[in-house]
Amino acid sequence: MAGQKPLLELENFIAGKFIPCNLHIDSYDPSTGEVYCKVPDSGKEEIEAAVTAARGAFPHWSSTSPQDRSQILNKLADLLEQSLEDFAQAESKDQGKTITFARTVDIPRAVYNFRFFASSILHHTTDATQMDSMGCMHYTVRSPVGIAGLISPWNLPLYLLTWKIAPAIAAGNTVIAKPSEMTSVTAWMLCKLLDKAGVPPGVVNIVFGTGSKVGEALVSHPEVPLISFTGSTLTAERIMLKSAPHCKKLSLELGGKNPAIIFDDANLSECIPTTVRSSFANQGEICLCTSRIFVQRRIYEEFLARFVEAIRKWKVGPPSDPTTSMGALISNAHLEKVRNYIKKACAEGARILCGEGVDNLNLPSKNRGGYFMLPTVITDIKDESCCMKEEIFGPVTCVVVFDTEEEVIERANDVKYGLAAAVWSNNVGRVWRVSKKLQSGLVWTNCWLIRDLNLPFGGMKASGVGREGAKDSYDFFTEVKTITVKY
Ligand code: NAD
Repeated sequence: MAGQKPLLELENFIAGKFIPCNLHIDSYDPSTGEVYCKVPDSGKEEIEAAVTAARGAFPHWSSTSPQDRSQILNKLADLLEQSLEDFAQAESKDQGKTITFARTVDIPRAVYNFRFFASSILHHTTDATQMDSMGCMHYTVRSPVGIAGLISPWNLPLYLLTWKIAPAIAAGNTVIAKPSEMTSVTAWMLCKLLDKAGVPPGVVNIVFGTGSKVGEALVSHPEVPLISFTGSTLTAERIMLKSAPHCKKLSLELGGKNPAIIFDDANLSECIPTTVRSSFANQGEICLCTSRIFVQRRIYEEFLARFVEAIRKWKVGPPSDPTTSMGALISNAHLEKVRNYIKKACAEGARILCGEGVDNLNLPSKNRGGYFMLPTVITDIKDESCCMKEEIFGPVTCVVVFDTEEEVIERANDVKYGLAAAVWSNNVGRVWRVSKKLQSGLVWTNCWLIRDLNLPFGGMKASGVGREGAKDSYDFFTEVKTITVKY
């Protein structure tokens, strides 16, 4: 139609070239509900081409020195940083997140992922032992595994994709990455920087499309011995099934139902703003977001009043507005899923303190078709409710009361997940005891989301298999061999 902006059309990136695809998937701008981009709907054929490219690039790339690879990763970080604003704008439009979050969290962290692994790859050592009685010594060597399959979700698109690409190529693997079909734009933009940074053709291949089609083709391919996956627990079950016949190496970073435990000696002036953020940052679409808040009885009413007051100051609106605190959810289907949880809670007799159905959401007319909802707090809800057991992955959090330390540990652990917990108390002994007993891969005490990439990241129980981080990622993306020398 005359005057209408042409849709952005993405292409696969294979063997250092952009390759058009015949089939496409519509990708929506979550803040308007309009289609604005066409994403390749790739399948087996594109995976075959990517495997051929990655196989061809492996002998050279895997024999370059860590120092050379480190320089290339640093160059890539520099190039990404120079285009930070373009990437932030694209991420915000594609995902619905606020421009402020994209500018201050997503893209800076993607830059840092490359810098971090550029540095850490230079500092690994291997083991050696002596066995004098046998006239032997033993030592280990580590080598890249081969072609790494990397599958990432839509909530932190470039942040999580680079968290996989950087350690995989730093260790000398070649990769085939598949971003979420809902948020593919920044991955495609990254491809434009690879050649300039000196990444040889075929080292990084990005193939776009749905999980059921191109995702499964990647996971099932016999020449891809390793899969690093971040996404839902349900998809991980399918990936485990599909990779089982090939005994693939798997790293699975999955969902959560994360508790925050707030004792009555907590510093509420710090706890409340942090818990608002931990519940609603990125529209609650972070696997580490708090969704069950346990508050000790003596401060329960005070906490609720102050928590709701702080939440009502959060502005929900156009992601491009720098004063917006919360943008749009990823899709209409996801918005409906989140709303259904609130309906179920109401049907069970729970109370909605603020947000959906209670407060008014005022949006500019151009955003009325977007997927917005207000940050919502549920209370008077039973631990057995699906809202307290299942991952909602949206701007909804439940607040419940507790009395004793033993009771709250048991209730916090009584879900299938075990990803991230927060504990708030000024009593050091209690913080230590509770942190130790929580079934959770990460525990933040008196803070949230402070990360040191050197240390292991990952979940227990249904929240994951394996850990990633400096040493853990290196271990995962390499094979170890023990060599014995008789002298
Ligand atoms: P998802 O599982 O639906 O999709 C994740 C990725 O897997 C997408 O790229 C998708 O296309 C692909 N996929 C889907 N089916 C597949 C299949 N059969 N074979 C291969 N690939 C397939 O998850 P999502 O909705 O994109 O993301 C939200 C989920 O991710 C939440 O559960 C969240 O907690 C989790 N998550 C976890 C972490 C973590 O580090 N633990 C981080 C972010 C998100």
